[in-house]
Amino acid sequence: MSNKVTVIGGGAAGCIAAISAAEFGADVTLIERNAEIGRKLMITGKGRCNVTNDCTPEEVLGNTVSNPKFLYSAIRAFPPSAAMEFFERLGVPLKTERGNRVFPQSDKASDVVDALRNRIRQLGITLVNQHVRNLDFDGKIILATGGLSYPKTGSDGDGYTLAKSLGHTIIPLSASLVPLTSNDSFCKEMQGFSLKNVKVTLSSDRELFSDFGEMQFTHFGVTGPLILSASAHIPEPLPEKLTLSIDLKPALDEQTLDARLLRDFAKYANRDFRNALSDLAGRLMIPVLVRRSGIPPETKVNAITKEQRAGLLHLFKNFSVSISGKRPIDEAVVTRGGVSVKEVNPATMESKLVPNLYFAGETLDLDAYTGGFNLQIAWATGYLAGKSAATR
Ligand SMILES: Cc1cc2nc3c(=O)[nH]c(=O)nc-3n(C[C@H](O)[C@H](O)[C@H](O)COP(=O)(O)OP(=O)(O)OC[C@H]3O[C@@H](n4cnc5c(N)ncnc54)[C@H](O)[C@@H]3O)c2cc1C
Repeated sequence: MSNKVTVIGGGAAGCIAAISAAEFGADVTLIERNAEIGRKLMITGKGRCNVTNDCTPEEVLGNTVSNPKFLYSAIRAFPPSAAMEFFERLGVPLKTERGNRVFPQSDKASDVVDALRNRIRQLGITLVNQHVRNLDFDGKIILATGGLSYPKTGSDGDGYTLAKSLGHTIIPLSASLVPLTSNDSFCKEMQGFSLKNVKVTLSSDRELFSDFGEMQFTHFGVTGPLILSASAHIPEPLPEKLTLSIDLKPALDEQTLDARLLRDFAKYANRDFRNALSDLAGRLMIPVLVRRSGIPPETKVNAITKEQRAGLLHLFKNFSVSISGKRPIDEAVVTRGGVSVKEVNPATMESKLVPNLYFAGETLDLDAYTGGFNLQIAWATGYLAGKSAATR
C-alpha cells in the first residue's frame, strides 16, 4: 500500500520535508500557493542565503530563543553538518564566513532553491500550485506554511488558522529580528548613516542584550544586524522603557579615548568645536554629537573645559537612543509564537492532538538568532517530520 504524504508549504521546511519523506519511500505531494517554491528563501541573507551555521547541535540550541529543548531530537537527527552535506550532495558548494555562517560559494540563494527544486523533480514528488484552505487530505499531512513575516513571500499566517481549526493552540505572534523604532529626532537626521564596529547595549530595567557589530540609523529609528539581534531579546509585552546605548569607540577605553580627544583638540586648537570632530565621527553624526554634548558649537576648541570634554567622552561611550517599539511583524525576519510545541511530539514532529498531522518550520513556536539558525531549524524539523511521516 502506498504511503501518501502531503506537504503544505514549499518553503525551506516544506521542501526538505517532502524530499525527506520521498527519500524514506513515501508517495509525496508538495503543495505551494505561489507559482514557484522558496520565494522567501530567495531573499534570505540579502539574496545570499545563510543556509546554516557550522556549529554543534548544542550551539544551535544555545542560539534558539523560543523552546530550544523541543528541538533537541530534530537537531540531533539533522544537525548543521547534515544540512551542509545535504546541500553539497545536491551540488551546492558551500563556504563558511565570520561567525560560522554558511553560504553557497556562489553567494546565490537561487542556487539553494534550484537544488531543492531539482531534487524534488528527481524524486518524482508531485508539485501542486494551490492555496490550501482546509486540511482535508488522505494520508499524512505535514504543515509547513511558515510564519507571518514578509507576507508577500506567501507566508501570511495561513497555517496558524489551519492548525487552530484542528484544535491546536497558537502562542501569540510577535516580531523577532526586526528593526526598532525611536522618537528621537536625531535618528531621522542621521538616516542612512551606518556605524561599524560599535558596541550596542539594549536595556529595560535590566540589561537585555549587548554585542559588537554594525547598525544603521533610519527615518523611523535603528536597523542593521546588531539591532535585529537585539530585537530578539525584547520580552513581550514590550517593557515601558527601552534604551539602546551605543559605545561608538569600543576599542578605546575611557582613558585612551580621552588622550585621543586631547590629541585632536591640540591639532584643531583654533577651530570652532563643531569643526573639530571630523577625525573621530562621521559627517552625519557630528552635528548631533555637538548638540547632545551641550558644548556651544562656536566654542573655540582651546576653550573647552575639562568637564565639557568629560561630557563629550561620555557621549562617545554611551550614545543613547530611546526605543519606542519594534517595526511591524511583516518587516520581521522571523515570527515569534505559533503552534504550541507542547502539543507536538518532539521526537517525530507529529501532532499530539490530531493523528497523521505533522508540523515543520516557522509555523511552530520556534525562533532563533541570526546566523543561519532559523533555516537550520526549518531544515531539521522538516527532515524529521518528513522521515517520521514516511516511516511511521
Ligand atoms: C528577509 C529575510 C531574510 C532571512 N535570512 C535568513 C538567513 O539568511 N538565514 C536564516 O537562517 N534565516 C533567514 N530568514 C528566516 C528564514 O527565511 C525562515 O526562518 C524560513 O524561511 C522558515 O521556513 P519555513 O519553511 O517554515 O517558512 P517559509 O520559508 O516562509 O515557507 C512557507 C511556505 O508556505 C507557503 N504557504 C503558506 N500558506 C500556504 C497555503 N495556505 N497553501 C499553500 N502554501 C502556503 C508559502 O507561500 C511559503 O512558500 C530570513 C527571513 C527573512 C524574511
